[in-house]
Amino acid sequence: MRLVVIGGVAAGMSAAARARRCDPSLDIQVLEKGGSVAWGACGLPYYVEGQVTSLDQLVRYTPEYFRRERDIDVRTGAEVTAISHCRREVSLANGERIPYDRLVIATGARPTRSGIDGAGQPHVFTLGSMGDAHRLKAFLSDRKPQRAAVIGAGYLGLEMTEVLRTHGAEVTVFEASEGVLGRQDAALTALVREHLARFRVELRTLERVGRVGESAVNGVPCDIVLLAAGWQPNVELAADAGIEIGRTGAIRVSERMETNLGGVFAAGDCAETVHLVTGKPEYMPLGTTANKMGRVAGANAAGRRERLAGVAGTMIVRVCGLGIAVTGLSECQARRNSLDAVSAAIDGISKPRYFFGTPARVELVAERRSGRLLGGSVIGEDGVKGRIDVIAAAVSSRMRLDEFEQLDLAYAPPFAPVWDPLLIAAQQLRKLV
Ligand SMILES: Cc1cc2nc3c(=O)[nH]c(=O)nc-3n(C[C@H](O)[C@H](O)[C@H](O)COP(=O)(O)OP(=O)(O)OC[C@H]3O[C@@H](n4cnc5c(N)ncnc54)[C@H](O)[C@@H]3O)c2cc1C
Repeated sequence: MRLVVIGGVAAGMSAAARARRCDPSLDIQVLEKGGSVAWGACGLPYYVEGQVTSLDQLVRYTPEYFRRERDIDVRTGAEVTAISHCRREVSLANGERIPYDRLVIATGARPTRSGIDGAGQPHVFTLGSMGDAHRLKAFLSDRKPQRAAVIGAGYLGLEMTEVLRTHGAEVTVFEASEGVLGRQDAALTALVREHLARFRVELRTLERVGRVGESAVNGVPCDIVLLAAGWQPNVELAADAGIEIGRTGAIRVSERMETNLGGVFAAGDCAETVHLVTGKPEYMPLGTTANKMGRVAGANAAGRRERLAGVAGTMIVRVCGLGIAVTGLSECQARRNSLDAVSAAIDGISKPRYFFGTPARVELVAERRSGRLLGGSVIGEDGVKGRIDVIAAAVSSRMRLDEFEQLDLAYAPPFAPVWDPLLIAAQQLRKLV
């Protein structure tokens, strides 16, 4: 039996590797149109910043590694141009046809450019590929732009704000919605705005950009523009083959990652997933999600029956030294999903003052009637990752606030205060539910 995987990054290689583990006899072929596989786009901002010195450092495994160690045939420079499910074969750009019994589509996503006139100008950049990163870095070192516009205050826009500041540019961030990280959280956005202002970064929310000028965006002068306005799933190949596209614009899959065509799976940034709190289909193009979806797709393509319950949309980003992390729903998002939500935020400290603790803000959101934890956010300079992961685990396991409040979290002065900010936030919120 032959499994063909289209796309060789997070979702595609996870699918291939998992399928191999599940069925050592499977003939597995990965078709990747680019020159590298199994590389981490998440490191691109840090290459542009200079912390990562070579793009090669982002490549985790080579095609040779997969051939030698996993018996997986990986072909680079192999673009799939059509899927014929009735013939169970894919066609390549060079005319070759490759048969399959099972197919995993992991074609990823591309940066959104639609709706923005002037996006093709030489001072306008996106960051989705190694080529993008290379061009952007060269522009920054050759031209030394003084004023930058970032369009979009999602994780990439915020990360790149820090990078552009490191390169000496003053930055204005334009965000069409009311808040950062797609979160509809006024308090979180206000905190981020205040923090950014200290670094001469202006955050303008509710300000849509429809056109990029030669030297200005919405009247604000700039000599470089970074488009970080979201991701467009690469679904054309699938749609042409009769695969159903969901209302999010990404490929619709079951919890087994199977599409409407039997034996054809989709995973990663090209496909939608389910939000663990709302139970609704969502589009969450993240590396964490892509890897998990890929594993499940690979297992099922190899004959197992595995499912992905969904994801909580956990995200963490560093911007100008501040860690910002979110998971589940904000109070506003919960209300928009018809949940009777309450929230409490506390300003705590990451560890005792005598151990140089820094401010740690924690917000928790719960459903009033059931006390079920729906989401939360953590902001601070240290301990952010650990704390958001605790909230994410609680949200994922549908923990109630009274259970959360009693969690036996670790304590020693170099790491945390005896009352962790998470527990203090839970105590505050319990007064409201
Ligand atoms: C700059 C940047 C920073 C990021 N930072 C983070 C982060 O901090 N945390 C996080 O969780 N996520 C982050 N992400 C998101 C994460 O990288 C993606 O979610 C993840 O790479 C998606 O993996 P994927 O395999 O679904 O898609 P992709 O990585 O997009 O891979 C899809 C592959 O399919 C190939 N392909 C497409 N069409 C065809 C075809 N027709 N034939 C053959 N091959 C094809 C493409 O060439 C591509 O290599 C970041 C992304 C970027 C760009």
